[in-house]
Amino acid sequence: MKAIIFGSPGSGKGTQAVILSEYLKIKKISLGDILREEVKKGSELGKEVKNFVEKGILVSDELVSRVIEENIKIDSFLLDGYPRNLKQAQHLEKTLAKNNKKLDYLIYLNIDEKTVEERLSQRRVCKLCGANFHLINMPPKEKGVCDKCKGDLIQRKDDTPEVIKRRWEIFSNESEKILEFYKDKIEIVRVNASEDKDIIFNNIKERFQ
Ligand code: AMP
Repeated sequence: MKAIIFGSPGSGKGTQAVILSEYLKIKKISLGDILREEVKKGSELGKEVKNFVEKGILVSDELVSRVIEENIKIDSFLLDGYPRNLKQAQHLEKTLAKNNKKLDYLIYLNIDEKTVEERLSQRRVCKLCGANFHLINMPPKEKGVCDKCKGDLIQRKDDTPEVIKRRWEIFSNESEKILEFYKDKIEIVRVNASEDKDIIFNNIKERFQ
């Protein structure tokens, strides 16, 4: 199966991508994670994208498309964070078609701006393993410490109010065009993403049973 998980920053995409890819036994390809990892390693690619990633600005289409091409040669995957605009969606479609492949689903996590703001400003992530916490809904057992690996919890540089607002605006500008592009091409699975993470997951899962 080839699917995209699609939604605004803070829609719970990353969390759902992890549990859903495990459930469906397919590989999760998260572009944000790949880019952050490159920044952390200080690679050439990392240096090139550092400023963009930390400010919540989209990296150039050419660059991310190259990263994606290298990662989607496999038969089954769940794409998280790509495509983020119409040009990327068209590029993905072409790249897959060249290899006689096509997407099956787009899972759309639908949410409003206010809920996103609240979620992201309270989000903390583990510096070591990347696990996500929410200071109110999913707090760590010990303040500032990851439950899973005991790493330090930090606030992502792009989870500040101004950057959250910018990321939301970028998403809203492009999302309608992407949904329109896929409307008659693949099945769109729409889910209410304002719910609790287990409810969201059950709602997605139901559609794949
Ligand atoms: P995310 O973790 O998905 O919110 O992505 C973090 C950051 O990585 C974004 O704010 C962008 O700077 C960059 N990024 C991730 N996906 C893309 C994409 N499809 N196109 C361009 N930049 C991206």
